[in-house]
Amino acid sequence: MKYLSHLAPSKIRNKRALVRVDFNVTLDGRGRILDDFRIKACLSTIRHLTKRGAKVVLISHLSKSQMTLDKKKNQKAGLRGISRYLGRLLGRKVFFAPNCRGEETRKAVSGLRAGEVLLLENLRFCPEEEKNGAGFARELAGLADFYVNDGFAVSHRAHASVAGVTKYLPSFAGLLLEREMKNLDRPLKNPFRPLAVVIGGAKVSTKIKLIENFLRKKADVLLGGVIANTVLCAKGLSLGKSLVEPEIIVKLRKLNLPDTRIHLPIDVLVSRGNGRTMAVSRAIGRVKKEDIIFDIGPETAELFGKIIKEAKMIVWNGPMGYFEKKEFSRGTAAIARSVAASRAFSIVGGGDTAIILRKLGLLGRYSFVSTGGGAMLEYLAGKKLPGIEALKNNRIKME
Ligand code: ADP
Ligand code: MG
Repeated sequence: MKYLSHLAPSKIRNKRALVRVDFNVTLDGRGRILDDFRIKACLSTIRHLTKRGAKVVLISHLSKSQMTLDKKKNQKAGLRGISRYLGRLLGRKVFFAPNCRGEETRKAVSGLRAGEVLLLENLRFCPEEEKNGAGFARELAGLADFYVNDGFAVSHRAHASVAGVTKYLPSFAGLLLEREMKNLDRPLKNPFRPLAVVIGGAKVSTKIKLIENFLRKKADVLLGGVIANTVLCAKGLSLGKSLVEPEIIVKLRKLNLPDTRIHLPIDVLVSRGNGRTMAVSRAIGRVKKEDIIFDIGPETAELFGKIIKEAKMIVWNGPMGYFEKKEFSRGTAAIARSVAASRAFSIVGGGDTAIILRKLGLLGRYSFVSTGGGAMLEYLAGKKLPGIEALKNNRIKME
């Protein structure tokens, strides 16, 4: 793989760099940025290029869920607001092209001078982006002399701007992508032991492979959230009306569930099915028919805390409970504090997990916070990510 950090400044000067970033940030109904973590994470690459006199063409998507938050006013919300915000962060003007293809866009690019930055409009306004259309990939490539992937969080997608475009340009991993790979490789290739992997959250199906991968690596796997429910259910415990992912139970039975390395909640907080969300604590095995499990209990938090304290390396993704409700956020907060207090090398990631850590003011207390949600899960599961494979296979030399 070729890295931007290894590319000689003389090769960068006056060249047009097409840089895939992930500015798919959370916006409110009026298009205001609620969370700039992913934008900030790309600054090092952008500055690296501007300092060396590249003409920087940034490309990104904004997902549909962000585009249509306010159906009336904001239907076509794109990246213009983000270009202004980026300008403030960089302390320089960021030009904006209201389209990601076509004649006007080509003109905007050819007007760039060394060290200037241009952001193109949302790639997903163009349907060929997600279909990885060769025509669109070639058109994007035509805008630049070389390509940089700095959008780790979208690298699990075989889209035109992530994978397709590398067929036509010398292609490099950006500084953020390089940081992500180096840090996430540590628990995979060179773990300190004991290694503790804490997994919670709701999207169980996306997390099973990761759990399998780390069990093979002899990690302690600590489970909370819907994934813990689903495993407890697979073991035959009654969980009342708690959320489980039934399709996963068959897959789970293939895991060695009596494995002493899988740590499950020993107590939980439930909401009783009477409409009130009062948090009542229950030992596992004593969950009643009308109960809904919404958090790990205090004894579990303590037990998990001990394992975390012993660990020399920790990976954490996914909240331990329904943290959006204050009375069910304690388990997640306890884990967040345990990991923050530990001297182990700690990696955290996941969209919802990052939201909680920011709220708790703990984001700066971990060794590495990944910008990836799905991409981080797939990487840690040992899967090959299309965006990263495309860079590895790129044989096109810089002139
Ligand atoms: P991340 O984005 O960090 O990877 P997920 O998207 O997988 O995490 O899951 C986050 C969601 O899981 C949150 O909305 C949270 O309320 C929900 N959740 C966690 N535990 C439970 C539970 N026991 N019952 C219902 N929802 C839960
Ligand atoms: Mg999520």
